[in-house]
Amino acid sequence: MTNQPFPTFLARYQERLHQLFQTLYTGQHATVRQVPEELLDQVLGERPLSVFIPEQFGGRGQDVAQSLAMLEASSYESLPLSLTMGINGALFLQPLSKYADPALQQKIFRDFLENNALGGLMITEPEFGSDALQMRTSFRNVDGGYHLQGSKHWAGLTGRADYWLLTARGDTGRGAAGQPDLERAISFFVWDRSLGGLDVQEYYQSLGLYMIPYGLNNLDTVVPENHRLAAKGGGVRMLLDLLHRSRLQFPGMAMGFLRRLLDEAVSHVRQRVVGGKALLHYDQVQDRLAVLQAYCTTCAAMCAHSSTVAGVDEDCSPRSLEANAIKTVITDMMQGAAQSVVQLLGGMGYRLDSFAGRALVDSRPFQIFEGSNDILYQQITEAVLKAMGKVKETNLQRFLSQFHLTERAAQFFNGATDVTIDLSLPQRKMVQLGRALGRIISLDMVIALGDQGYQPELIQGSVAVLRRQVTALLGIFSDPARVNVVETDEAGAGSWMNFLQQPAPI
Ligand SMILES: Cc1cc2nc3c(=O)[nH]c(=O)nc-3n(C[C@H](O)[C@H](O)[C@H](O)COP(=O)(O)OP(=O)(O)OC[C@H]3O[C@@H](n4cnc5c(N)ncnc54)[C@H](O)[C@@H]3O)c2cc1C
Repeated sequence: MTNQPFPTFLARYQERLHQLFQTLYTGQHATVRQVPEELLDQVLGERPLSVFIPEQFGGRGQDVAQSLAMLEASSYESLPLSLTMGINGALFLQPLSKYADPALQQKIFRDFLENNALGGLMITEPEFGSDALQMRTSFRNVDGGYHLQGSKHWAGLTGRADYWLLTARGDTGRGAAGQPDLERAISFFVWDRSLGGLDVQEYYQSLGLYMIPYGLNNLDTVVPENHRLAAKGGGVRMLLDLLHRSRLQFPGMAMGFLRRLLDEAVSHVRQRVVGGKALLHYDQVQDRLAVLQAYCTTCAAMCAHSSTVAGVDEDCSPRSLEANAIKTVITDMMQGAAQSVVQLLGGMGYRLDSFAGRALVDSRPFQIFEGSNDILYQQITEAVLKAMGKVKETNLQRFLSQFHLTERAAQFFNGATDVTIDLSLPQRKMVQLGRALGRIISLDMVIALGDQGYQPELIQGSVAVLRRQVTALLGIFSDPARVNVVETDEAGAGSWMNFLQQPAPI
């Protein structure tokens, strides 16, 4: 099957998914936790994960555009299915193909292609999520391998994946009892079911993404020596390479999801009549549709960009700025689009078995995992301020117009960005500025897509929406008001009942 030309594979995959999701996995089934094994078998039977496997191991090669197209086809039918594919590709197969022992690669790739195996990545711990570099899962060298101990939670496909990439820090042996001293570096190990010692303590009742099991795992396992990934250039660099490549591929999962939301919205507003006319003819509805369409165009531009920079052979560790911009902006757009379509669908959108209703809860964690958006927006600003410092520039407009990721977009914001940036911004302003910068970087990608001949009206729509958002964000950024959390006291801020203009009758 992997020797079919890619367009043939893709068309067949799309058709197969459509058929499966209309019969086996209709809205009703979508409200049930865990994916029916029958459905998963049939999907994996099409070999979608072959796009993440090198050709010499029987895969399709690792063309990023093909991977994004497969993710897009998956998310048009189901966002959780696409995330399942994304986890397997970006968080397991791609790092495996880049950093693992070739003999191990051979065995595992075969298992994926022949036996529908699944994998995942465990980084997060109950005490360490955003500050994952402080993780306490540790490893020690033992005879023939490594002994790992700790706990991990929220890993996608908990209890279901056959393989895991486990992360841990080396125990130096210099700590006290119960408080081991751990190396700074993060190491990665490949675990498979036959090794045992990875036990689910609890399954979480996650709000959405019902298809994917999540929970808390206890880890006390020994993995063979050749199961440790070889960190070319250090563990932190490997972690950044992996995470940035994954963030760069988020638009693949977003693309089908946004297109489907747009299709659902258009179909609904055409047939729903309110006040004697179809919803489509209301100006506010038109605005919502135009924004959805602009999100689709922006996402297409990101896919085109990532296709050229996120290859497995590339070192993505230095690409923090574009990876963080793409991840934050597209996940905000996913959530914004879902909110908008639920609004358009009215009461019928507020159902777990409607695509839009599920979209709302399924897309929400994309703003949290693989770097919380609040933190990534701050990092975007920090990176830009650092780059401005390097060229000794304090005017944002002048900097943006000569910076490689923004030079074409800068022209659209002449007034709004003509500001001198104070390097000691409070965190909330860093985050706000990061939101604007992320969208300016995205706009630059949209212009590049236009240069390739993408339909000009769609490009103009996307430029207009991004410009509107950036201008609004920069308006808030320039607002000098700083609202702080106030210590409340009973006398001045008790129940509102004590502050009625006419005292309440006793
Ligand atoms: C559906 C889902 C799937 C996931 N999949 C995986 C997976 O496959 N593998 C895996 O290892 N992990 C996974 N995770 C875990 C995810 O990566 C973490 O939840 C995330 O990193 C945040 O960590 P935390 O939950 O500990 O939140 P915390 O670190 O406690 O952060 C909570 C919030 O605090 C705020 N915050 C934190 N630090 C700062 C700061 N410096 N400045 C300002 N605000 C801050 C942010 O708003 C942040 O969102 C998943 C999580 C979810 C919900």
